[in-house]
Amino acid sequence: MAAKFNPVTEALLDDLRNVLGEKHVKTDEENLEKYQTDEEGNSYYFRKPEVVVFPGTTEEVAAVVKLANQYLVPITPRSAGSGVACGAIPVYHGIVMELERMNKILTFDADNMYAVCQTGVFTGQLQEEARKHNLLYAGDPSSSESCQIGGNVANNAGGNKAVKYGTTRHQIYSLKVVTPTGDIVTVGARLQKCSTGLCLEQLMAGSEGILGIITEVTVKLRPLPPYNFNMVCVFNTDEAAFALPNKILKAGIDPTSIEFMDNEALVMTSKFLDMTMPHVADGCDYVIVTVEAFNQDDLDGKMEQLCDLAEDNGSIDEFEADKRIWKLRKQFAEAARDVDKMFQTEDFVVPLDKIPDITRQIPELREKYGLYCVTVAHIGDGNIHVLPLNKQGFSPEEWFEKIKAFHADLFPRVYALGGKMSGEHGIGFKKVQEFAKCTPDGEYKMIKAIKKALDPNNIMNPGKLIDMD
Ligand SMILES: Cc1cc2nc3c(=O)[nH]c(=O)nc-3n(C[C@H](O)[C@H](O)[C@H](O)COP(=O)(O)OP(=O)(O)OC[C@H]3O[C@@H](n4cnc5c(N)ncnc54)[C@H](O)[C@@H]3O)c2cc1C
Repeated sequence: MAAKFNPVTEALLDDLRNVLGEKHVKTDEENLEKYQTDEEGNSYYFRKPEVVVFPGTTEEVAAVVKLANQYLVPITPRSAGSGVACGAIPVYHGIVMELERMNKILTFDADNMYAVCQTGVFTGQLQEEARKHNLLYAGDPSSSESCQIGGNVANNAGGNKAVKYGTTRHQIYSLKVVTPTGDIVTVGARLQKCSTGLCLEQLMAGSEGILGIITEVTVKLRPLPPYNFNMVCVFNTDEAAFALPNKILKAGIDPTSIEFMDNEALVMTSKFLDMTMPHVADGCDYVIVTVEAFNQDDLDGKMEQLCDLAEDNGSIDEFEADKRIWKLRKQFAEAARDVDKMFQTEDFVVPLDKIPDITRQIPELREKYGLYCVTVAHIGDGNIHVLPLNKQGFSPEEWFEKIKAFHADLFPRVYALGGKMSGEHGIGFKKVQEFAKCTPDGEYKMIKAIKKALDPNNIMNPGKLIDMD
């Protein structure tokens, strides 16, 4: 990796301490080790920061960014560190900026259905606050208890309710941002429509910390539908299961989520949670459909319609599920980690009608690269998580090489079907080379030009999404 940045010096540390106070600037080994990774378990990717800073206000964030420019030292913004693309790993060392102290809901306006959150508010905390007021915050990554709103915006997190409500970018009105040169700006506004200038809050959403640091987020709240059901449709072939989502959407059932777990994922997770679920021992897959409604009749009608549709399309059983089903769906990553801390979460996304075309190719790829995989999917959005598990005990470097070869084969197949390599986790550090290879030239040049214009010193989360080298 080219050494194009300066090391963190005593002079910079003194300036950081002057801005933030002694106790919010950490250089002890324990902290440097902690912040060398995020959710990533493969030590091949780990990089230690030289200093970790904990700002408490937007002004402090801006002051640190100005110092980083002055000293030419890179900054990696970090919220909860639950990202799975190595986005919060400080590739070029330098400063990790941990935003956990900025954790307050500043405004909660139930009448006008919006809230203003500091970046470090946990997503689950915002969801809970909304529920208390009979409202819904519709961003719902499976990691909601362990991720924060700033990280969600930076990664444009998706999750379980995206079929109906969209991803995090669809939940935001406006953002307060510190630009890579240290200016404080507000982008977007609390408006239902707007045709005034460029949509910069949407440019920031999904920008993975390379275009600035989000310090406040004004989010939309929605009425909370009081009635819902979770229906499990059971299939004995993947093919039949994958054909269902498009039909559900076309039938106007308007589901909140459509999730998929293949039999291997069901066996692994139910064993991990010590749960016995119907048909899992028979080798079946689940399609889990959630529907919400504002009255019981509407809900009953949709439930009946869904059962008919599932049966017509090869479901061998349908049952209404209790809370256990979401525990099962949300805990699969923990179950995978239990097999080995090095596992890979693929995150590709294809048009709904192409789901069978890509998933049909996975067994061949598994065989070719000797990978053991389980599959779960936000199947209602065409977002497939194939998880290669390191059952064979490869070393960090061997595992890295294996995944690299797998990606080189998988992603061109995804793009040939009109898909992209990430539906919600982002590119991070992990897929930076693959992104460069798969992205059309014109699009790649536009991204580079935007980055260069906003971050002339390339100090803001360098080595993520695009490599300016
Ligand atoms: C068990 C599990 C389940 C998951 N399920 C889902 C899921 O269903 N859907 C989904 O989309 N993701 C999921 N994820 C991935 C992860 O939780 C999300 O990507 C989440 O949005 C990351 O938020 P975070 O607060 O942890 O951000 P971090 O990991 O700290 O950061 C993520 C990226 O954003 C940047 N960043 C962080 N904060 C800021 C900021 N304030 N300003 C600018 N840049 C910033 C970082 O530099 C990094 O590039 C899951 C992860 C786990 C471990």
